[in-house]
Amino acid sequence: MTTEVDSYIDQLFAQEDETLRWIREESRRHGLPEINVSAQEGALLQLLLRAVGAKKAVEIGALGGYSGTWLARGLPADGTLYTLELSGKHAEVARNSFQQAGVGDRVKLLEGEAQQSLPKLSKEGPFDFVFIDADKGSYPHYLDWAAKNLRTGGMVTAHNALIGGRVVNPQSEYEQTMDNFNRVLAEHPDFYALVLNIGDGTAVGIKR
Ligand code: SAH
Ligand code: MG
Repeated sequence: MTTEVDSYIDQLFAQEDETLRWIREESRRHGLPEINVSAQEGALLQLLLRAVGAKKAVEIGALGGYSGTWLARGLPADGTLYTLELSGKHAEVARNSFQQAGVGDRVKLLEGEAQQSLPKLSKEGPFDFVFIDADKGSYPHYLDWAAKNLRTGGMVTAHNALIGGRVVNPQSEYEQTMDNFNRVLAEHPDFYALVLNIGDGTAVGIKR
């Protein structure tokens, strides 16, 4: 649901360049689901990543590399984005996207089940920024991993926190899962948190 206000904000602050458009088209050509973040949400993620001065960031759920490109572009040249992806097909598209975007040297793609990659990734921490956007039932688990592996003042973000507003009156399992996650985050002792009502909703927490 894009409003006139969103179009205004997008025109001024969240214009996609040719590469980002190409990544969306390339993902579609490979039959990937069109569930990437919007341009405005991508710009939001990059802004938040820059706000914490992130050098080491983690993304859970790469898909075709769209949100990952927004994130990687916010990192300094010696920064690293570790992005986790279960599907070999998605991972292949994402790797190609990062090369096309010229951030291939800054992005490390970890293929496989995130719950198996994360414990191994811990040794590269502590991290400055974590973006959660994979299987929704595992969000509380990913949040706990972020709590343990973010530096103090580091930031966790999670996509689809509001599901078009339907989380307010949860009906489906998906809506109940996200409502549950928001409640876990709101009461989590390790985070100062809020959900931003932008796009599909991005939950944000600062590590205490
Ligand atoms: N962040 C992406 C969209 C991610 S869609 C963007 O905005 O561009 C969710 C992705 O998470 C899918 O590619 C899916 O294959 C992946 N995924 C789902 N379950 C996963 C798991 N258990 N471990 C790692 N990746 C997973
Ligand atoms: Mg999402």
